[in-house]
Amino acid sequence: MRAAVLHEIGQDKLEVLDDVEAVGFGPGKVRVRVRATGLCHSDLSAMAGVLPQPGPFVPGHEGAGEIVEVGEGVRTLKPGDRVVVCWLPACGACPACKRGQTELCLAGFMNAGTPNFKRPAGDVFGFAGTGTFAEEVVVDAGCAVPIPDDVPFDIAALIGCGVTTGLGAALNTAEVEAGSSVAVIGCGGVGISAIQGARLKGAAEIVAVDPVASRRESALKFGATKAVSPDGLADAKQQVTAGEGFDYVFEVVGKSATARTAYENTRRGGTLVVVGAGAMDDFLQLNMFELFFDEKRILPSMYGGGDVLRSYERTIALWRAGRIDLAGLITHRVPLADINEALDQMRTGTALRTCIEI
Ligand SMILES: [Zn+2]
Ligand SMILES: [Zn+2]
Repeated sequence: MRAAVLHEIGQDKLEVLDDVEAVGFGPGKVRVRVRATGLCHSDLSAMAGVLPQPGPFVPGHEGAGEIVEVGEGVRTLKPGDRVVVCWLPACGACPACKRGQTELCLAGFMNAGTPNFKRPAGDVFGFAGTGTFAEEVVVDAGCAVPIPDDVPFDIAALIGCGVTTGLGAALNTAEVEAGSSVAVIGCGGVGISAIQGARLKGAAEIVAVDPVASRRESALKFGATKAVSPDGLADAKQQVTAGEGFDYVFEVVGKSATARTAYENTRRGGTLVVVGAGAMDDFLQLNMFELFFDEKRILPSMYGGGDVLRSYERTIALWRAGRIDLAGLITHRVPLADINEALDQMRTGTALRTCIEI
């Protein structure tokens, strides 16, 4: 079957090959025919070596498709079921799952050293244990979450990562208060989802911050009340908060420099929500006096910071009711053969989300 492979960490192009096989099928596993997958910024970060991931590997962790085969013992799924691929499945038994914090379950990472694919040339891993830039993936049954018939595959794919991450940051982690002021730094698919979440919660002012003009325009359509480039943030803070700082600032880039900017633009006693996935050697500096004296709350948000399956259901309910726009997040579509075009669209910031049709 076909899949897009990164041969070596640090390379910036994928090769679409047709000699790849999804491996590991057996008890408790399912085989999924991927129909649509989104390109998430984390895929680029893993390719660049910013996020830990063994290579060679098939990127992609935001996908949806149909079950083609279920392994022994799988009772909740059958061939033909439409599913979203969840890269962070909940085991249901660990302390984090029992607390309802399934986004912190580590069970899905236990297979991190096991290849998901093979080629005549050798083993190939799948990003985050999935690897959805492929016609087929084999995953644990818990990684295949059924979706209702009215949710198209391209929308379902987005729910698999970006939308859940961004919406959850506003709804679960920050619990944005009605009437508050919000700034969102980084307005790709995840940042736009955080903007939609803040709007749902009734934020009075939502300032979108992004260096790319087309993303700023999009942010306004999705509910931002103002959109500025990074060098316009100081003025926006002055106008919107009289210089005090925002009640909530979302960092959706994953870099210490933008996290520091976000911290400085959060008001004393306000909340900095860290959404971006950054590198292990990129350190955020805070001095002990400001940390204590300004009483700013720093809230990291992993995969939406809440029960993952409940987040999926809530997103589908909001989408079906027309309260959030998911179709509008898909600004580009390419077939798998043109996957490198999608990478360029993400790198230059012209795409909110590119849907890769498989
Ligand atoms: Zn667990
Ligand atoms: Zn992602």
